[in-house]
Amino acid sequence: MKNTTNMKIPAKYQPMLDEVTRDSDGYWAYSNKGYMFDEMGCHTASEDTQAALMAVIRSLVPCDCKECVTS
Ligand SMILES: [Zn+2]
Repeated sequence: MKNTTNMKIPAKYQPMLDEVTRDSDGYWAYSNKGYMFDEMGCHTASEDTQAALMAVIRSLVPCDCKECVTS
């Protein structure tokens, strides 16, 4: 997992995440293949604050969508 923020990501979620980063729009998280953010219903999460992004990260669930299965 690549993490360009100063967020502490619990070890439990690290294997499920590809990248956690931030830009002028806020904080972003990208799930690894096989997982998705249940709260967002997709593989990319964007929030204004670290706390909000962390809440979405905690919603990570296994995903078997076409995109996860075929690539
Ligand atoms: Zn998927």
